[in-house]
Formats: sequence, C-alpha cells, structure tokens
Amino acid sequence: MNLRKRKYPLEKKNPDEDLTEDQLKQKKYVESLGCKCPFCGSDDLESGAKEVDAGYMFERVSCLSCSEYWDDVYKLVEFYKPGT
Ligand SMILES: [Zn+2]
Repeated sequence: MNLRKRKYPLEKKNPDEDLTEDQLKQKKYVESLGCKCPFCGSDDLESGAKEVDAGYMFERVSCLSCSEYWDDVYKLVEFYKPGT
C-alpha cells in the first residue's frame, strides 16, 4: 500500500474561489448564523415579521446601523414534540 499517494493535490484550491460575490456574501452570512449584517457587518439587527410557507419560514431582518433590510430564509428540518 502506498501511503504517500494522495487523493488530492497538495495545493488545495480555495473552495471560495469560484463563488460569486453574492454567493460569498450569502455564505458569510449563514456562517455568522445570521448575527451580522451582510452589508455592513454590524450585529445591531432587529427581527421583524415572520411568514411561513410550505416548509420555509421568512423573517424580515433590519440592520439598525446601515438601514438595509432582507429576509432570513429558514427551511423546515424536523418536528419536535415538547415534553418527550
Ligand atoms: Zn448593516
């Protein structure tokens, strides 16, 4: 068995390299768990109205620093029965 054989080339490609600016912004926002404004980076965010539609929930979020707003998109992953 040749242990030196590598599955991947030594020079690892940056996985973010192929992402567009918008995809990168999306990724960073999700990695911050929605705690940082995708436009200015502030954590001074305010949640607003929520709307549920076919396994998705949309929550309006506003940034109190730069006045941008957007909708957080949540996807249903499971149900939980309280008390069990
Ligand atoms: Zn902002």
